[in-house]
Amino acid sequence: MYIYTYIYIYIHIYIYTYIYIYIYIYIYIYIYIYIYIYIYIYTHIHIYIYIHIYTHIHTYIYIYIYTHTHTYIYTYIYIHTHTHTYIHIYIYIYIYIYMTVLIPKDPKKGPVPSNYRPITCLSTTWKLLSGIISAKMNRHMGQYMSGTQKGIGKNTRGAKHQLLVDRTVSRDCKTRLTNLCTAWIDYKKAYDSMPHSWILECLELYKINRTLRAFIRNSMGMWRTTLEANSKPIAQVTIKCGIYQGDALSPLLFCIGLNPLSEIINKTGYGYRLRNGAVVSHLLYMDDIKLYAKSERDIDSLIHTTRLYSNDIGMSFGLEKCSRMVTKRGKVVRTEGIELPEGNIADIEDSYKYLGIQQANGNHEEAARKAATTKYLQRVRQVLRSQLNGKNKIRAINTYALPVIRYPAGVIGWPKEEIEATDIKTRKLLTMHGGFHPKSSTLRLYAKRKEGGRGLVSVSTTVQDETRNIHEYITKMAPTDSVLSEYLRQQKPKKEEEGEEPSWKDRPLHGMYHRQIEEVADIQKSYQWLDKAGLKDSTEALIMAAQEQALSTRSIEAGVYHTRQDPRCRLCKDAPETIQHITAGCKMLAGKAYMERHNQVAGIVYRNICAEYNLEVPRSKWEMPPRVMENDRAKILWDFQMQTDKMVVANQPDIVVVDKQKKTAVVIDVAVPNDSNIRKKEHEKLEKYQGLREELERRWRVKVTVVPVVIGALGAVTPKLGEWLQQIPGTTSEISVQKSAVLGTAKILRRTLKLPGLW
Ligand SMILES: [Zn+2]
Repeated sequence: MYIYTYIYIYIHIYIYTYIYIYIYIYIYIYIYIYIYIYIYIYTHIHIYIYIHIYTHIHTYIYIYIYTHTHTYIYTYIYIHTHTHTYIHIYIYIYIYIYMTVLIPKDPKKGPVPSNYRPITCLSTTWKLLSGIISAKMNRHMGQYMSGTQKGIGKNTRGAKHQLLVDRTVSRDCKTRLTNLCTAWIDYKKAYDSMPHSWILECLELYKINRTLRAFIRNSMGMWRTTLEANSKPIAQVTIKCGIYQGDALSPLLFCIGLNPLSEIINKTGYGYRLRNGAVVSHLLYMDDIKLYAKSERDIDSLIHTTRLYSNDIGMSFGLEKCSRMVTKRGKVVRTEGIELPEGNIADIEDSYKYLGIQQANGNHEEAARKAATTKYLQRVRQVLRSQLNGKNKIRAINTYALPVIRYPAGVIGWPKEEIEATDIKTRKLLTMHGGFHPKSSTLRLYAKRKEGGRGLVSVSTTVQDETRNIHEYITKMAPTDSVLSEYLRQQKPKKEEEGEEPSWKDRPLHGMYHRQIEEVADIQKSYQWLDKAGLKDSTEALIMAAQEQALSTRSIEAGVYHTRQDPRCRLCKDAPETIQHITAGCKMLAGKAYMERHNQVAGIVYRNICAEYNLEVPRSKWEMPPRVMENDRAKILWDFQMQTDKMVVANQPDIVVVDKQKKTAVVIDVAVPNDSNIRKKEHEKLEKYQGLREELERRWRVKVTVVPVVIGALGAVTPKLGEWLQQIPGTTSEISVQKSAVLGTAKILRRTLKLPGLW
């Protein structure tokens, strides 16, 4: 009666990974075909595919993914094509264990359990899968999710939206002298206490697809984690209630579980009515709840409603962090608070933070600004004390310190003077840590690195940007959001003054270098060291100050600051002591300091040639290379006086390379001149060695090329430098040559000008 046909195919493929394929075909009275494909990718996952085909009508594909990290995921995809073929795909991934790291919040508080924030590290497979599912669910939940929940969802500014709504309400209360009662609700361990059964109940309530529900239920049953603190595992726990913190799905599940509360609150009809009729009863940001009502009786009722709902789903208030504020006719009044069975919710203290922003009666905006500024400066100091290089310090300030300013910006007013004071303070801190010369160009500090600046973002740009963004957001949302349209009405229209930004390049002293090299150098490449050399911030600042004529040379002191200083060079007394003179023009420095810098640059080229021909590379960069190095492939001469039949003016180039196989030779001469002279120097070197080239070609019967390697003392790069370097065996980059020259110059400047302290 039954015809069983098993076709069991086992394929094992080994190409850096292991793939196992099992095909299993089973035929019933009607033809059923089951195909199991079991793929095991050694480093990553096991995939198990199961295909069921029923007489051209049903096709089931069953995929089983087993990850190496013992992760367990299970999903089921059902595809119904128009040809009446049913494909069922099961993806089964085994996720055994996650790791939860306990990170201390405040190092001062020590090892108290409440002082730790648990962060769960989940497997990438799970994150990817849960991310896809949560994106789908999010779209579906759009129709049910309360507009007051801004913890999730797209196209919203999240916490900032809530802060804007909050601001609208408080301004409305102040201008119309109305009664307003607010309450802040805090949950004890909100994320850890919501029961799984309630989440699943809500999923059904909101008509989430049955398969997805089954998937979530099954995976929840397997949620477990290893707790870890100070890099030591402590215990393994099964998560019986509450959500993970670390994937995309969990916050959504939490919001879904809390969503009915919004509906209940809305049904009570309580709330604060704005001038234009819009009612605000509560705001939700994940578990952060703020309630609004027009009287004490109403707010207490809302608090009770919230409490009842929360207790029902197993979540309890953290009373010490809950707070209440009663405003009558625009003025805050003191009350006894509200008595709950668990305890009392007291009036707001002087400082209370809602979504990280200070809230209190009176000038809380100033408090919020102060808190942000203090934290910002603290982070700037922290960055400046670090071991990061110049570029990364600036980047750290931009991405680590400035967001502290960006967050409250746009939501609270920020006087221009305060912003400027913070920027000045930032520059002072930079100067104190040696990262910015006090006379250097401020405009250039804030210019992009690619354009020759330092790339710092100012507080004022940050605040302006964010204010503009928030304004755009409000304008966009106002037509559909009655609260934000009220906000827009409250806000006085401000005239935006946008003039042409001045550039440091046009400044007489600060931009002089730039204008000089513009004619002879490849500008982009000349500033490349700022982007790629990874110099210390003090070196960066020094070189830039030198380029900007900001360093106190005797000539600058006499000419610009009108002191009675003798403007002549302190070393040779021959010429005015300018930056150009010290960096590349003083005869007293030529013999030793310039020579050392020159040899460093030439040494880089030399070592690259050695590496190319497998010749022994000098170990230290301070070690003088031997005059002759030779093997069967090449011969390299360093600073070698060439024998010639005819008299040749220049017969001692820095480096000569003879490629014995190719029968070619390259004559290389290096120079680090004044930046404005680079092109002239390049030409000069080329001409100078033509005689030697002819002599060598005649004597050695090889093809000889002359290659000048010229780099400006302050980093200017000739447009042809790249081409020249390519003609030298081995690979020498423009940036390595430039970095070496700039570092050499920095050393000369520090020594000669005897810069006090960091300068
Ligand atoms: Zn001199």
